[in-house]
Amino acid sequence: MKKLFLIICVVALSVLPLVGCNKADFDDLTSYTISASLDDSTRTVSAEMQVDYYNNTEYELNELCFHLYGNAYREGGKSPISQTDISSAYPNGLNYGSMTVSDVKADGESAQFDIDENDVLTVTVPRLMPTRRITVTMNFELKLAEIRHRLGYYSGKYNLGNWYPVICAFRDGEWVKHPYYSNGDPFDSEVANYSISFTYPESLTAASTAGEGENGKLEASIKGVRDFAIVIGDFKKKSVTIDGTTVTWYSEGSDDYTQVAKDALNTYNDLFGKYPYPSLSVVKTAFLNGGMEYPGIVYVSDALNDDMIKEVVAHEIAHQWWYGVVGNDQVNFAWMDEGLTEYTTTVFYEKNPSYGVEKDARIADSLTTYMIYCELYKDNGKGLTVMDKCVGDYPTSLEYTYMTYVKGQLMFDAIRTLIGDKAFFAGLKTYYEDNKYKVATKADLIGAFEKHTDYKLTSYVESWVDGSALMYAIK
Ligand SMILES: [Zn+2]
Repeated sequence: MKKLFLIICVVALSVLPLVGCNKADFDDLTSYTISASLDDSTRTVSAEMQVDYYNNTEYELNELCFHLYGNAYREGGKSPISQTDISSAYPNGLNYGSMTVSDVKADGESAQFDIDENDVLTVTVPRLMPTRRITVTMNFELKLAEIRHRLGYYSGKYNLGNWYPVICAFRDGEWVKHPYYSNGDPFDSEVANYSISFTYPESLTAASTAGEGENGKLEASIKGVRDFAIVIGDFKKKSVTIDGTTVTWYSEGSDDYTQVAKDALNTYNDLFGKYPYPSLSVVKTAFLNGGMEYPGIVYVSDALNDDMIKEVVAHEIAHQWWYGVVGNDQVNFAWMDEGLTEYTTTVFYEKNPSYGVEKDARIADSLTTYMIYCELYKDNGKGLTVMDKCVGDYPTSLEYTYMTYVKGQLMFDAIRTLIGDKAFFAGLKTYYEDNKYKVATKADLIGAFEKHTDYKLTSYVESWVDGSALMYAIK
């Protein structure tokens, strides 16, 4: 995600890894088959879902857990909206949504299920051994809140991010059941295969993780993606094809940012390795922050000026590499996600000087901002500059933003300064190639750089993330 208020602050202050998955193994992934329809009059999605779950853990399982993110928008729920964002999220007043499930079955037999206070659905299943499959089916109904957020309806546009029950990550012998935190992008999913059939009003356009619908119906299949999102609205579109990928800009207006998307895709394809999916949709939609990434589709807020749109397009497309193809634990190591993506955005400007944004100026801005943050909040106690923190443990969204985007960017620039351009970019290529379709760890990231340099980087990186570093490597 790209946080809008980060830029506002800058101005004010300036002044368990997936086992052996590569492309050939897409058959050994969990598959979602969803048949759904959107009722425009009630803003409700009704769906039947079949999940063919593949047990890629080393454990015998007796239950499967799913996040019901749609239920976080309910009245009395642990809302994903922070207090400071309420007025911009709900311009027409507070409003609620919900998600209900019914008729849950495991291998055709009725299954017991329970939904906890964190909106995690637990389905009891017959004993499931490693490398074996089980089929769970359920119906779900999603009532959309009127909200400018990842999931919701606002002003004629439907944002369907995190719209279906999604399997929780399974790590260190247990299901990971994070609630929908208001900080960060608190999603932690593994790649899966999807087959989606979705009906919507014929007069509207549907863009998705796997291309677009036609005549009120989206029929889409895609393998090896971490999530599946859809945006529906009365959009005009412009398309361009780059290295076999169709990139489409969707907007209600006549604006056209396909060139920025094209420059971003070209730059990252060259620097990190090729984007692997056939389509990429960039949709200008109702969203309270700058933008939001999903595999194959990104949101760009409809409340941005020209320069911000360009930056958000470059940032969210960078997430296709860092989050999308190379996954990471965004909940506990958000700097691996946002720090690297923010730095990649800076590299985008460096490699595309026609945009008139200088790399050194962006790094200098981040450094000034970070130092002022440290000075202003130095009395807030321990943990002020700790980057390895669960997003739910940051006391303020400001601290989350400074530790992940700002300090994260500074750290990646410092690593580059230390090991040199050649090793740094070769390291990122290795990181991409070796961790495609997996959930990468800090050790994977450090190891990728160490393959191309004699520097031992573990303690160096740790001193940044544990908050003890002096920023001596910044030029
Ligand atoms: Zn982001």
